[in-house]
Amino acid sequence: MLDFLKARNRSLTDTPGAGKTGAEKAGVGKTGVGKTGTTARQGKAAVTFATRLSFEAVSRRYGDTLALDNVTLDVPPGKVLCLLGPSGCGKTTLLRIAAGVERPSAGRVLIDNQEVAGPNRFVPPEKRGVGLMFQDFALFPHLSILDNVAFGLRSLTKAQARAEAHTALERVGLGQYAGDYPHILSGGEQQRVALARAIAPRPGVLLMDEPFSGLDPRLRETMREDTLAILHETRATCIVVTHDAEEAMRMGDQVALLRKGRVVQTGTAPELYRAPKDIFAARTFSDLNEVASRVEGGLAATPLGTFDAPGFIDGSEVIVCMRQGGMRLVKQGDGVPGRVLDTRFLGDVGLVELAVQGFDASIFARVREADVPAPGTEVGVRVDAGSILIFPAESGASLAAS
Ligand code: ADP
Repeated sequence: MLDFLKARNRSLTDTPGAGKTGAEKAGVGKTGVGKTGTTARQGKAAVTFATRLSFEAVSRRYGDTLALDNVTLDVPPGKVLCLLGPSGCGKTTLLRIAAGVERPSAGRVLIDNQEVAGPNRFVPPEKRGVGLMFQDFALFPHLSILDNVAFGLRSLTKAQARAEAHTALERVGLGQYAGDYPHILSGGEQQRVALARAIAPRPGVLLMDEPFSGLDPRLRETMREDTLAILHETRATCIVVTHDAEEAMRMGDQVALLRKGRVVQTGTAPELYRAPKDIFAARTFSDLNEVASRVEGGLAATPLGTFDAPGFIDGSEVIVCMRQGGMRLVKQGDGVPGRVLDTRFLGDVGLVELAVQGFDASIFARVREADVPAPGTEVGVRVDAGSILIFPAESGASLAAS
């Protein structure tokens, strides 16, 4: 890693384009910003500072569609922010605005506290020091793998670009393929080349749009871990777009949940998982059983128990959400009577569909695979009080208690 940083610092002084932060490339002042710059001391590896990326009240309108609505987010230097949300919620638009290929209708984008998009100035993409990696990356089939990676390093001499590309290829573990052509690579290896190409210019900010969604699950996990390690080494500040909550929780130092162009909630993965702000956020992070209830005496009653409903006035219509992982199957006679209707194998856990006394619709439990009972088994059902979340009733399906 030190060698890597030394190389980085060398390139900062030797080459005019590569290795500079967005702020430096954007020409936003010689002091204060441009923190990817160095405080070189003779004989020692110089310190490298990472880049901050901020969105201030960013909106983007396409005709009648408000793709982004007043989005404020801050990605601290060297951190990974996962942008999570369903299709059409504005994730890609925000990334494109950060990259500079799209302009905000209102609000500002700042790199190291300097405006790069907003009412006062607009810095073009090539001057932002921002790298991009998309799901549908394309390698040039007629270029060697090394030249594919060197392709974007146009501000360097050919020899310098190839040297930088080699460093990036080594970093992703593909140095030995430098002289080969892309067709010999597997899907995962091609993805690594795409990552090498994105990190080769040493961007201060790296933007990744669904980068692993084309890979099979096992490969995706490896790529996630490897990518995180590389991001930490390069100290790139990163936004990863995903619609996969698990991926967001695994990768993000921070997760921002988007819905209909708005930020619903931002926080660490445990914060969002434990204290989702609304039912939409809760559904994103957990599989739930949803039970309609009405608050009486500060409590919400369900056929599976009565739960504290703090903050709700009596008479409030609520939805009691029970995490499927918080359901307990006990022996018949304990808990609420239930019968196993069906089971599904999910790997380490099994999904159990139950008919439970008092409910019109099925209740689902996720239990250890070894504990999955056979269909037809009579069981008792309980729920951990700690797995209960209560939200105001809203339009949307919930299980009606009979
Ligand atoms: P996501 O990446 O979360 O799937 P997008 O950012 O691609 O969402 O899109 C957000 C919304 O903006 C969608 O309703 C989409 O149809 C709309 N949109 C995005 N780009 C354009 C465009 N160039 N012209 C018109 N509408 C667009």
